[in-house]
Amino acid sequence: MTLRVAVIGAGIGGLTAAATLLSRGAQVEVYEQASELTEIGAGISLFANGQRVLSELGVLDGLGDSAGEPSRVVIRDGQTGDRIVSHPLGDGKWYRAQTDFPYLGVHRAELLERLEAAVDRRHVHLEHRLVDLEPSEDHVDLRWENGRSSRFDVVIGADGARSTVRRWMYDKECAIYTGNSGFRGIIESSCAPSLENPGDLQFWVGSRAHLLHFPISPGGERITFLAAVEEPVRWPAEDTWRIPTTTNEALAHFEGWHPAVTEIIGAVAHSERWGLFRMEPIPSWRHGRIALLGDAAHTMLPHHGQGANLSIEDAFVLAQLLTAEGAGSIEDRLQQYELLRKRRAEKVQLASWRANHLLHFPEGADTAQRNTAFANIPDDARWIHTYDARFAAGDSLLVPQEMD
Ligand SMILES: Cc1cc2nc3c(=O)[nH]c(=O)nc-3n(C[C@H](O)[C@H](O)[C@H](O)COP(=O)(O)OP(=O)(O)OC[C@H]3O[C@@H](n4cnc5c(N)ncnc54)[C@H](O)[C@@H]3O)c2cc1C
Repeated sequence: MTLRVAVIGAGIGGLTAAATLLSRGAQVEVYEQASELTEIGAGISLFANGQRVLSELGVLDGLGDSAGEPSRVVIRDGQTGDRIVSHPLGDGKWYRAQTDFPYLGVHRAELLERLEAAVDRRHVHLEHRLVDLEPSEDHVDLRWENGRSSRFDVVIGADGARSTVRRWMYDKECAIYTGNSGFRGIIESSCAPSLENPGDLQFWVGSRAHLLHFPISPGGERITFLAAVEEPVRWPAEDTWRIPTTTNEALAHFEGWHPAVTEIIGAVAHSERWGLFRMEPIPSWRHGRIALLGDAAHTMLPHHGQGANLSIEDAFVLAQLLTAEGAGSIEDRLQQYELLRKRRAEKVQLASWRANHLLHFPEGADTAQRNTAFANIPDDARWIHTYDARFAAGDSLLVPQEMD
């Protein structure tokens, strides 16, 4: 019998799960609270671990032509601009040689458009905000804010960092404000004349703040950035993770920093400041026939650029297990999914949290140890990038079961 799966959330993880499930014969419907699928103007790092899955789904074809491939990763002192560490990425095809894929900087909207095309809009139901779930032995009933309801065999909670499904499982909000917030944007690199090498991925680090930027077009004509600061101490809003701001407010945090930094931040009319949240590992990602993936399962700081890449991995492994021949009951399959994915995601969550400390080293502290840690990043993070979700579930589970 054809498995009927509801995916809650049409973000990167939800659409990847739906595309994989559909390609393997499952019946899938995606429910999204928004009235249209729009995307904030921001870029995203697509690493080899995410790309391995996207290549399998055909979503990667031609994406590299419009993306940026940073030449090097460079870490600089935010005020003097002095180079602390520099390591090749695209240069000499270093990253490709390690992982078989280039490191790509892409526009989020372009990635989402490609995932939507892989799913087919007929399976995406907008203006469906999930408000309640009611599981029973062989199905789950879902209730939407618009008054409708639906019944499915399996439910995937891909509803992001403020997940309703997770809140239903734990009866509380698990995400914690980290005391950090960020200003994001995309600019033409010509707007930052002091920036000498827009084709690099660069961190400009300082006390209690940093700026990250990387190219999202070939040659670095367009770059995306995140300026993160350790403020405000308390997040002032309960119901939203974005609060109003101004460009002057953003720039005030970077007074006295290198001109390339202030030119990049100042090139955007900032209207929103993003709270940066994380989660302690939760006891389980599943409840009966309901499973979490992506940010809903493991909200993390963005410092390893892995949130979306892990969502893509989760989605693929879960979809494979749900559709594989001989993988047992639905509950067995979800248990297997959790066993395969949870520990890895928690390790990346922790690594991203630790990176926050390195990037915002306090003024006057001995930086020698920090600089050694920076120099070791390519080796220390290799395990993240070489992971292949396509084979995580093991060869025996790769054959989709017959569904009719
Ligand atoms: C500043 C910043 C920079 C980042 N940079 C990177 C990067 O470079 N690389 C990277 O890999 N990751 C990055 N990330 C992380 C990445 O954006 C997320 O990890 C990723 O988008 C998570 O995907 P998701 O599908 O799990 O959730 P989301 O993309 O958040 O999608 C969740 C979807 O669910 C919908 N939804 C929510 N509640 C409901 C409901 N009740 N009913 C129906 N629909 C609902 C939402 O509207 C949304 O469309 C960054 C994050 C931040 C904050």
